[in-house]
Amino acid sequence: MTDKIRSAPSCADPFGEDMISLDQALERIEARVHPVHACERLPIRECLDRVNNEAVKSPHNVPPHANSAMDGFALAVSSLQPEGITELDEIGTAYAGTPFDGSVEPGQCVRIMTGALIPEGTDAVVMQEQAEVDADGKVRIDHDHRDGENIRQAGEDVSQGDIVIEAGVRLSPADLGVLASLGIGQLQVKRKPVVAFSSTGDELVSIGEPLEPGKIYDSNRYSLHGMLSRMAVDIIDLGVVRDEPEAMREVLEKAASQADLILSTGGVSVGEADYIKPALEEIGSTEFWKIAIKPGRPLTLGQIGASIFMGLPGNPVAVMVTFSQFVVPTIEVMSGASLKRPALFKATALDSLRKKPGRYEFQRGIATLDEQGEWQVGKTGKQGSGILTSMSRANCFIVLPDDSDGVEAGDEVKIQFFDWSI
Ligand code: AMP
Ligand code: MG
Repeated sequence: MTDKIRSAPSCADPFGEDMISLDQALERIEARVHPVHACERLPIRECLDRVNNEAVKSPHNVPPHANSAMDGFALAVSSLQPEGITELDEIGTAYAGTPFDGSVEPGQCVRIMTGALIPEGTDAVVMQEQAEVDADGKVRIDHDHRDGENIRQAGEDVSQGDIVIEAGVRLSPADLGVLASLGIGQLQVKRKPVVAFSSTGDELVSIGEPLEPGKIYDSNRYSLHGMLSRMAVDIIDLGVVRDEPEAMREVLEKAASQADLILSTGGVSVGEADYIKPALEEIGSTEFWKIAIKPGRPLTLGQIGASIFMGLPGNPVAVMVTFSQFVVPTIEVMSGASLKRPALFKATALDSLRKKPGRYEFQRGIATLDEQGEWQVGKTGKQGSGILTSMSRANCFIVLPDDSDGVEAGDEVKIQFFDWSI
């Protein structure tokens, strides 16, 4: 008889040889996941948040011609006396969209509006607040002006032939504006990855059904639906799958024919792993990882044909943690963008936080700005991985590195906002 009673691994284990770190898990994901090949050509308004397929070169200068940055008077600086005030004759007006048709001689000026082409013979715009117009129509301007003043030069924003948007960039509202400024109406973007998702568990019932003893409502599919809806992906809800290898195999087979990524939650913890694993192995391949993070340690990565399968833990908070750490990067790579680490911000802890060294922890926090505009973060109370209200009350994870052995109030910590896009 040994003096130990437990031999099976559990979530209380310290970092062991069979555990991998968060970074190792991400490296493995990056090595196994590939971008979708197919592209589509879309009107630029439909390209928001999509991934650009080919670098876009500017077909011309932006702005195409030199134009005025102010309302004022266009003139040649050489017309001005070196000292004192010069009186100039106003010979016409240049409007945005309607240029002044003629040439400006020494001693003359043209009234000019913002965005209007710079008339021939002029090299500066004096803003109207710095000019006086006489009763007899003469324009009085002092000597203190320089060549190029208030002129936006041709090509100042973009030069012809410049790459304005690289391949692999997720397109922002400003990118759509830049494309429009070049006269580009359509763009080739990667197609959206298709993501199918399911929950597993005999204890799960759907909303509307009575809660018999021992049953719970399925919440994971709703959190997953919410998180996926914020990403540029097409989604397929596979519903609840019973804890049977046959049921799992059927769903996986069907999903693999439609989806690039198949997510399932639950059924990967000790004792239950037995039924997702054989189902996957029959129709594809699988790896079962223990990752040194809390919550969210077990993760299954599999391949069925061209589709990637990710088996997330069942606990509702662990689902959201593993989604933010592993599913978001997977979708980024699949979309044709590069793997992006989540942005971490510095914040001052308002509470002490308990933690044992050995694993990365994602505690739930409420970040607010202090009077100096710096982030401060408090905890949301109970931190169990099944306590989903700890997520709904929070706006960020407090990310505690593996070597941390806890935090005192006033210490600096790192936070990751729930807006995964930053
Ligand atoms: P499992 O990984 O299947 O052993 O699940 C771990 C815990 O998460 C159990 O308490 C499950 O009841 C719970 N759980 C699993 N799936 C869901 C779900 N879809 N919604 C809510 N809780 C779940
Ligand atoms: Mg289960």
